[in-house]
Parts: sequence; structure tokens; C-alpha cells
Amino acid sequence: MKVIAVANQKGGVGKTTTAVNLSAALSELEQRVLLIDIDPQGNATMGSGVEKNQLSLSSYEWLVEGAGLKEVVHSKEAKYDILPSNIDLTAAEVGLLGMESREYVMRDLLSGVAYDYVLIDCPPSLNILTVNALTAANTVLIPMQCEYYALEGLSALLETIKALRVSSNPQLDIEGLLRTMYDPRISLSRDVSRQLVTHFGEKLFRTVIPRNIKLAEAPSHGQPVIEYDRSSKGSRAYLALGAELLKRQEGFSSQLL
Ligand code: ATP
Ligand code: MG
Repeated sequence: MKVIAVANQKGGVGKTTTAVNLSAALSELEQRVLLIDIDPQGNATMGSGVEKNQLSLSSYEWLVEGAGLKEVVHSKEAKYDILPSNIDLTAAEVGLLGMESREYVMRDLLSGVAYDYVLIDCPPSLNILTVNALTAANTVLIPMQCEYYALEGLSALLETIKALRVSSNPQLDIEGLLRTMYDPRISLSRDVSRQLVTHFGEKLFRTVIPRNIKLAEAPSHGQPVIEYDRSSKGSRAYLALGAELLKRQEGFSSQLL
């Protein structure tokens, strides 16, 4: 099982869009996937077709109140399983802060769980929920827009990853940086994209997610884009990302042999 935190403390960079659509793409590629929503905004929950305002149990109860994963998970609405969240999760920060080993809660809860991939949609901050996700994770997937300020935000995240390697998760690796909402007509986007290639090389996904209206429309239908409009550019891009991610794991395991 591989746990991937989709994180960037900068808001609106495409974390949730990536978490939802990569979960759908990996399921399509025959992987058993669990998507965990740890953002009280509940966007990944809604985007997966689960009504966040009608939850009897959410990731809050799972993290803080001892509810079992099986009780909380929804498995009918999407092809992947979703552990939903809503505004109740804001109380988890306080709940977790009162606990011993508070940054290890999620890691411990995931220890007996069996999926091929667990994706965690993080909130746009480096709070205790994100720290839990980064402690539970094997890798971090970092969506970013190709704009000037994106690089500034990135250094804060990379510092956090470094700090967590020292404190709670020595094995934490970067799965990859993902260029999102890419518009090749904008010259700054092309420049920043080129800089990312130079700086991050292999750590940058080759797949680029284009700006595509279908990706923005799909969540209001409670569907990943693969279901909403399979032939759209957005859908094809996320399927390509899923394939690239799987291919990289193969490369990695054959390196070990
Ligand atoms: P937050 O930090 O608030 O959690 P986020 O990083 O999860 O935001 P998203 O919610 O995925 O970002 O995306 C922000 C907005 O941009 C949403 O309205 C989403 O539909 C839209 N969006 C994301 N990716 C694309 C894309 N490739 N093309 C067009 N619109 C997109
Ligand atoms: Mg989000």
C-alpha cells in the first residue's frame, strides 16, 4: 500500500481536483483506492458524489472519536472509496492537539488498512491535520500553478517536508510536482514551467494538467471528470497522470531487483 498526501499550503492550486481525479484514474487502472478528505471544506467529498451535509460520520469521528474506517467510508458513490469530511473536522485540530503523539494518529489508524493507494486531500495550510497526513504518507504529490508566486509557496512546503523527515517521518519522499491549470498561451506559464523542469528534473511529472472547463464543471455534478466527460482534455490528462504514476512505481521496483 502506498499513501500519497496531495498537499500545497497555497490555496486553489488544484489539490482537490487532483486528489479526486487521480483517485478515479487509478481506480480505472484497476487499483484499489481510498481517498481521504481532511479538508473541512469537504470539496473532495462533494466532488466524489457524497453529500457533505448529510454525513452521519466523517473523518472527524475516524480521527478523534475512534470510529472504524469501515463505518465511515463510502464505497457506492464513486469507483474508489471515500472517507468524507465536512465542517465538523475543524474541531479535530483542537481534538488532536490534546492527544499524545498527535501527529501519528492517522499513521496508526492506517496501519491495518489494505488498499493499493491511499490519497489524502490536504487543506490549504500546514496545520496539525496536514502534519498528520504528511506523517502517515510515503510520498507527497504537490500540485502547482505555473505562476511566479507558486515558487515562493513551494519553498515553505519543502522546508516543512524536510522538518518532518527529521521529526516524525524520515522516509517521506516527494512523489512529484504536478503542473496544473496550465495554459501554454501565457508566456509566464511557459517560463515557470521551464524553470521547474530545470530545478526539479525527475521530480516533475511529465504529464501536465491543462486548464479545462470540464474539470471545473465536474464537481458540481458530484463526479470525477472521467465520468462527467471522458473524452475531455482534463479527463485524458488525469488518466495519463495515473498511468505515469504507476509506470514510475514499476520503474522503482525494478530498480530494487
Ligand atoms: P483549496 O486550497 O481551497 O483546497 P485546491 O488546491 O484544492 O483549493 P481546487 O479546488 O482543486 O484547488 O481548484 C481550485 C479551483 O480551480 C476549483 O474551482 C477547480 O474546479 C478549478 N480547477 C482546478 N484545476 C483546474 C483545471 N485544470 N482547469 C480548470 N479549472 C480547474
Ligand atoms: Mg481543496
